[in-house]
Amino acid sequence: MLDGLDPEQREVATALHGPVCVLAGAGTGKTRAITHRIAYGVRSGVLQPSSVLAVTFTNRAAGEMRGRLRQLGAAGVQARTFHSAALRQLQYFWPRAVGGELPRLLERKVQLVAEAAARCRIRLDRNELRDVTGEVEWAKVTQTVPEDYPAAVTKSGREAPRDPAEIAGIYGTYEQLKRDRGVIDFEDVLLLTVGVLQDRHDIADTVRSQYQHFVVDEYQDVSPLQQRLLDLWLGDRDSLCVVGDAGQTIYSFTGATPDHLLNFRTRHPHATVVRLVRDYRSTPQVVHLANNLMGRARGRAAEHRLELVSQRGPGPEPVHTEYTDEPAEAEGIARRIRELMTPREQGGGGVPASEIAVLYRINAQSEVYEQALADHGIPYQLRGAERFFERPEVREAGVALRGAARAGGNDPLLEDAADLPSQVRAVLGTKGWTPEPPAGSGAVRDRWESLAALVRLAEQFSAARAAAGAGPPTLADLVTELDERAGAQHAPTVEGVTLASLHAAKGLEWDAVFLAGLTEGIVPITYAKTDEQIEEERRLLYVGVTRARIHLGLSWSLSRSPGGRANRRPSRFVQELRGPVARGAASRGGSAGGVVRGGTGASRRVKRGPVRCRVCGRTLTDAGEMKLMRCEGCPSELDEALYERLREWRSERAAELGQPAYCVFTDKTLMAIAEAVPGEASELVTIAGVGRRKLDRFGADVLALCAGDAPAQSPAADAGTDVGDAPDDRLRHSSEDVADD
Ligand code: ATP
Ligand code: MG
Repeated sequence: MLDGLDPEQREVATALHGPVCVLAGAGTGKTRAITHRIAYGVRSGVLQPSSVLAVTFTNRAAGEMRGRLRQLGAAGVQARTFHSAALRQLQYFWPRAVGGELPRLLERKVQLVAEAAARCRIRLDRNELRDVTGEVEWAKVTQTVPEDYPAAVTKSGREAPRDPAEIAGIYGTYEQLKRDRGVIDFEDVLLLTVGVLQDRHDIADTVRSQYQHFVVDEYQDVSPLQQRLLDLWLGDRDSLCVVGDAGQTIYSFTGATPDHLLNFRTRHPHATVVRLVRDYRSTPQVVHLANNLMGRARGRAAEHRLELVSQRGPGPEPVHTEYTDEPAEAEGIARRIRELMTPREQGGGGVPASEIAVLYRINAQSEVYEQALADHGIPYQLRGAERFFERPEVREAGVALRGAARAGGNDPLLEDAADLPSQVRAVLGTKGWTPEPPAGSGAVRDRWESLAALVRLAEQFSAARAAAGAGPPTLADLVTELDERAGAQHAPTVEGVTLASLHAAKGLEWDAVFLAGLTEGIVPITYAKTDEQIEEERRLLYVGVTRARIHLGLSWSLSRSPGGRANRRPSRFVQELRGPVARGAASRGGSAGGVVRGGTGASRRVKRGPVRCRVCGRTLTDAGEMKLMRCEGCPSELDEALYERLREWRSERAAELGQPAYCVFTDKTLMAIAEAVPGEASELVTIAGVGRRKLDRFGADVLALCAGDAPAQSPAADAGTDVGDAPDDRLRHSSEDVADD
């Protein structure tokens, strides 16, 4: 058990009694040390598995921890997020503490906050709504009631997005609306659990007799409310082990603070404090960059900075790349990913797709990367896909499908439906699915997208069955398939490149990491104003950098769209890194640490210059319009029948290849093809999203379809027939495909 640990990690693992605090930088094996500690405690008989509660901050991290514990022979230990641990206890004790059933949990706050604002006669635009919702969350995790919010804002030095009195009004109304409707939100789960444990000593005693030992990962991001809950769980005992890195504090905006980590010794004078500095994750090149970035940090967290020392062999220098525009940046990254994914025998990097990530600051940045990866036929997954099966519309659809499956041939709905996909379309038609998406965006559209993803899943499922030579699947088969996927916690995915925000990447690692869109205004984000907020942005970048084991790419683009004004500047943090150190490395030869210029000159897209509307000639800036090569408003000469044929062909191809449909062509590209109706390869290749590679693979089929012929029999599938990619991936993709229609 202890063999795989260094002496300091071993000290952590063997300190089974009393409080323990591990202060250490990224990749030093904190998570590894605590999982080994638990396993060691269990295997040596000191810790009863069922008496240990390990808490972390994301479902994915909790899932990974459970997996690691199982491997180490410590199954039976609870590893949960604060939220899920609290929810479980609340559900269990609610009937006894309050009576009746626990109120329904509100999936998303935004809508109710909007309603509260409307009641207060305050108009909020989308950004304000997001910011005000953030304020409500902050108030709740800092246990601030509406009346106290304005004073709390002043005291904390926060910059409120609106007049604090107005926000207090919206917050109060929001709480009232929740009560009226008998629902609770995410923070209420913690607040109510705290309330129950505080007021009901009998219940607190029961919980305490169950859990005697607590372990907290990523402790630097604990919120006051979570800390309060932890204190209540612990009572007057001290079997608490916390690990964290103040340099990775990235949730201050939600009220989290590294103070609990940094002051642990003050609160627990007898605590064993261990520091780890050996970085097992990243190469010396990556570590050097990370140290440089943090070397310039200021503030409290920086005082506790630990210089990391890489334990790995050398690797390639991190590559800084400047692009002329965003699509060129995405295209450049996609190409680089393709090189990395190419097998070693063929001169590539031999890195599997699942070991590559593209990380960005805000979720809205994902679109251009999704598009570029899809254009290159690279499968990808967006973080957060695991929530798909938890969405209310997906649950409802599951109930409806199950009902129809049970009724079998007796369900009148299914009378005219010959195959599984048409049956699914008929059933989901009663839940709001329509062949065409509803106009506009928002909740109705989101719901439709989820249902459409289920329809596509059914299509792929039956195509894959057919390709495997099995008989036609029934609704019951599909229901079993959906249950299995949902049961696996998150939707299973194809081996895909991860697209994630920097926040969502916390605690994770990949062989290759691309940090994209590093410009002023994005990192640091425009609304980071105070020194402390800017420092948090630096830490966020540090989290990003330290996710990479070997390959690290940092990039930015000077303008948003091709031909646009080059009014962006690289992030100040990147500029610091490119200082003397980077130039010194570069002068030793090669591109080491230097700046590689990529983009327009080099990329296929850019050779075409600014993209103009085919109809009116206007320069296009919107990514969706650029794909279509016309303004949204300009008349479309789309050949509807051809478009439908192309889509059908695409589903078949995708099923054969065992890949999501967008990896063949995206909706936008098919639309552009059905508008242009190319007669030969030279025309086809000029359409955005086609490219040489796809021309070689699919050109003949597409041209045949355009000419009104049936495509030649497709060659045998050149990949497995795995249908298992997350419906969400396609969902997100198609949602962006159509969202700007
Ligand atoms: P973060 O701050 O990013 O959460 P961490 O400190 O939790 O990082 P881990 O994820 O536990 O770090 O470990 C980083 C990597 O180094 C993992 O791949 C882990 O398996 C490996 N590692 C940690 N300690 C050792 C060790 N003693 N020997 C070999 N590999 C190790
Ligand atoms: Mg960790």
